Amino acid sequence: MFEVVIGLEVHVQLNTKTKLFCSCPTSFNHKQNTNTCPTCLALPGALPVLNKEVLHKSIMLGAAIDATINRTSFFDRKSYFYPDSPSAYQITQLYTPIVEYGTLEIDLEDGSKKTIRINRAHIEADAGKNIHEGEISKVDLNRGGTPLLEIVSEPDLSNGDEVVAYLKKLHSIIRYLDIGDANMQEGSFRVDVNVSIRPKGDKKLYTRVEVKNINSFKFIQKAIEVEVARQSEAWEDGVYEKEISQETRLFDQIKQETRSMRGKEEAADYRYFPEPDLLKVIVTDEMFAKYSKIPELPDAKRDRFVKEYGMNEYNSGVITASIEMANFFELMMKEGITAKNATTWLTVELLARFKGDVNIKNSPVNAKKLGFLVKRIEDKSISGKAAKEILDYLMNKDEAVDAAIEALGLKQVTDTGAINILCKEIIDANPDKVEQYRGGKDKLIGFFVGQVMKASKGTANPQAVNEILKAKLG
Ligand code: ADP
Ligand code: ZN
Ligand code: MG
Repeated sequence: MFEVVIGLEVHVQLNTKTKLFCSCPTSFNHKQNTNTCPTCLALPGALPVLNKEVLHKSIMLGAAIDATINRTSFFDRKSYFYPDSPSAYQITQLYTPIVEYGTLEIDLEDGSKKTIRINRAHIEADAGKNIHEGEISKVDLNRGGTPLLEIVSEPDLSNGDEVVAYLKKLHSIIRYLDIGDANMQEGSFRVDVNVSIRPKGDKKLYTRVEVKNINSFKFIQKAIEVEVARQSEAWEDGVYEKEISQETRLFDQIKQETRSMRGKEEAADYRYFPEPDLLKVIVTDEMFAKYSKIPELPDAKRDRFVKEYGMNEYNSGVITASIEMANFFELMMKEGITAKNATTWLTVELLARFKGDVNIKNSPVNAKKLGFLVKRIEDKSISGKAAKEILDYLMNKDEAVDAAIEALGLKQVTDTGAINILCKEIIDANPDKVEQYRGGKDKLIGFFVGQVMKASKGTANPQAVNEILKAKLG
């Protein structure tokens, strides 16, 4: 009876070397308040100077979402008083942002696609961090002045699954462009979810509630679920007007509820006005040409993998969702192996062996090595089972694949002479079973194959074993 209407605001921390308006480093894990200078501490007389790298990265994002890149945009001042901002205002772009009117295509569960409109992406400065220790509150301004790109969607999303699909696609694009780390847990990809409901078919937009403080896809789904329930219950109980107001609510992960953070009546008057300390932002022809030429994006790569490697769309989508996975896969393919094996050995075998801090970026077995291991399966030098053992070994030892095969004694025996001898030994040792087999108990072939494989410590080529046994048993 209701439909859900959702719009997202995503704050992406750009991975520039220095801050938005000063040359302080953006790297974290430094001693508190050491990555600061008169500008980001807002000392009187210090003036901001725009970091060009921020412009370049914003143009790239704009190009990736097919947006308009405004050749002239402006900064505005948003006033608010809070200890995490020593200037008592935030520099942002309200009236003319650098990027406007883009789109993002998302893939839905049922295989269909939906286009989500993006209203804008604007540059703004991040605030510092307040740290609360019992009665005392402190502020760390290392993060103050770090560049953010806030990407604002139109209210085109209709449920939690679509929201997650949108966020994953956006995340993937940011990693492909390498304009940010986009790590939700670390706060470099922060999502505000605006939620409202309306009677099905109604085109009007009803009161939106903004939910903040959610740092995982799972919690975003949950937050939407509980907020929608709260709004629909209010509607059904006839208290919608009274209880649902435009406000910011926090999601409480423990109580699984949203809670009012600041209401309409307390909403700050931001007193926006054009930032007087900065010039207008100009994207030159040269800059535009250089940075709007972007690398192949996830969707294009997915389609190319399907065509070029004959993969199915699902597998291709899984691999190309991450630029690191996609690059790893393509390097494996250079070893001349099948896409099917490359996919399995990457997404099933290798990923399962990652523990702790080990991931695709620092994997002890690199793409070339894993590709070569697969090649050794395909040229029948080793069995698939042996390859798993070899991979375990290589995860802890920096050795070449062939050396590892040698060291573990896992080279597959395809030499029929050697297999012949083993088969003969097993047949001779089991006269009763031979008799039963010859008497019609065909299934016993499995027993013989198993025995020979065991005697060869798994190195005999099972196909050869099968053929030789059958010939000998008659
Ligand atoms: P603010 O900074 O005040 O939150 P923005 O314009 O930056 O305003 O963001 C508003 C967000 O809320 C956008 O993502 C927009 O799509 C979304 N939104 C607007 N109206 C509704 C609505 N009725 N229901 C759900 N989302 C909405
Ligand atoms: Zn600084
Ligand atoms: Mg908002």
